[in-house]
Amino acid sequence: MTLKSFEQRNGNLVLPGERLGVIEEFIPDSGTYVKDGVIYAKIIGRALMDMLNRRVSVYPLNEGAVVPRIGSIVVGQVGNAQSDNVLVRIFQVGAKKKMTGFFGGILHVSDVSERYVDSISDACKPGDIIRAKVISGKNQIYHLSTADKNLGVIYAFCSLCSNLLEQRRHEMYCSKCGNIEKRKTAYDYGKEVL
Ligand SMILES: [Zn+2]
Repeated sequence: MTLKSFEQRNGNLVLPGERLGVIEEFIPDSGTYVKDGVIYAKIIGRALMDMLNRRVSVYPLNEGAVVPRIGSIVVGQVGNAQSDNVLVRIFQVGAKKKMTGFFGGILHVSDVSERYVDSISDACKPGDIIRAKVISGKNQIYHLSTADKNLGVIYAFCSLCSNLLEQRRHEMYCSKCGNIEKRKTAYDYGKEVL
């Protein structure tokens, strides 16, 4: 099965017994079963292929599960940082929509801000909570953008002592250790109740 056929499936309805992939490609997760190395849907629901974590699962329809789509506003936690991007563990889609699992996303330095950002670490750091928009689902990876005033970091933590950072004019301040850091924040930094 090719990536292209997955693209048509992600978030779409699948029926019990429907082939989702093979165990060489994916880790079978909830709502699936494996037979002879092939992963099948166990229930009627929406299929999710998480290409970053290589997991495939099926969410029951009656739980009102949502999956990110292009244009979705999502909230997630920043994970590993690479040279010019960070991985994001998406845990919320839309306005407090319940999610049954986690989705992997990527934020590239060029999508951080409308302004030029030299380094991804000037925009967000591992552990931060960000609000972002899904701009592409190419290859089943959610590419994110924070280039808007309502998008960006909503909670940031001191990289020295993990204390919640306070926003001051153009910098982030740690009231515990005095450390000063940079972030690309959303206009309502620190206000969203998670
Ligand atoms: Zn600190």
